[in-house]
Amino acid sequence: MAYVEVNRDSIAKNSRTIVELARSNGVKVAAVTKVVCGDPEIAKSLLENGIKEIGESRLENIARLKSAGMNPDFILLRLPEKSRFRQVVELVDSVLVGDLESLSRLKEISSETEKQLKFIFMVDTGDLREGVMFYDAEAVLKKAFEIVGSDLDGIGTNLGCFGGVIATPSKFEILLNLGESLKRTTGYSVRRYSAGNTASLPLLEEKNLPEGINHFRLGESIMCGTDVTNNRRVPGTLQNTFTLVGEIIELAEKPSLPIGDIGYDAFGRIPKFVDKGKRMKAILDLGEQDVVPSGLTPLVRGCEIIHASSDHLILDVTDSEKSFAVGDSIPFTMSYGALLRVMTSPYVRKVYL
Ligand SMILES: *Cc1c(COP(=O)(O)O)cnc(C)c1O
Repeated sequence: MAYVEVNRDSIAKNSRTIVELARSNGVKVAAVTKVVCGDPEIAKSLLENGIKEIGESRLENIARLKSAGMNPDFILLRLPEKSRFRQVVELVDSVLVGDLESLSRLKEISSETEKQLKFIFMVDTGDLREGVMFYDAEAVLKKAFEIVGSDLDGIGTNLGCFGGVIATPSKFEILLNLGESLKRTTGYSVRRYSAGNTASLPLLEEKNLPEGINHFRLGESIMCGTDVTNNRRVPGTLQNTFTLVGEIIELAEKPSLPIGDIGYDAFGRIPKFVDKGKRMKAILDLGEQDVVPSGLTPLVRGCEIIHASSDHLILDVTDSEKSFAVGDSIPFTMSYGALLRVMTSPYVRKVYL
């Protein structure tokens, strides 16, 4: 059966490295567990290694962590649908919000209960995902303060994830300026400036973070040791945190090119193959349901991923440095996207080292 090996020591080490990098810049870290589907074993390693706050995008994952007995501060990174706002109030301590209507509704619900929910209002500084556009933000933040008062814990932004926009000091100065203008008009100072995800780490490494930014939400750098937006490994982190292992369920010599007229594959793609004559092909017990095939790199030299359908991953193992039989395993490293799908697939067993 396919499984993923979770190297908790490496995740713990990354956690300590990143927390220290942040601390030396005056920044607190919320570790983001969405890429591992809120896995309690992994969260436990984080909480034992300098993390005090967990960031999640799914209420289900937060509920999963809580029922495993974990009780750090939870920050919800993305709102669920309106009908579940009551659950937001029950489960989380702070929430990122990008519009006034949701803010009012959440405040209303939290006022009915004892629970004091804190809000970080999101400002879109150009990546074009959540939040009010920065050029409209001054008035909106003032309204947000009128609605929730001192429960307006902070102002935040997110870069890289959607539009691929690179974090620069001027993006974060937008947040600080908005905070100052709120203070001028209302006398109120927000406590948190929540600026970054992994894409913003270079500013910490270069000591280039505008003074006042004090909160980062970090997932990829801790879990994978990579920074996909800037196409690099994060200095001082380990990349051997997760290894996917698939099992060979069929092995046969077959032609490189399909035989017949070619239409679309199961996913509406027209597959392209290179004719290399007959090749030794291995079918693994993995597929699109479990992985992003293009995000896998085989750890055995000479193996090449050819293509995948829902439940079959096909490798050309003709030039492999190792010879294989049915029942043998092939290990892979994974991109962030591949890891996300692996951890979400119930068909991939999780093995904790
Ligand atoms: C996913 C997410 C993060 C974490 O991003 P990484 O690139 O994994 O560090 C931070 N903030 C928000 C709002 C997110 O959705």
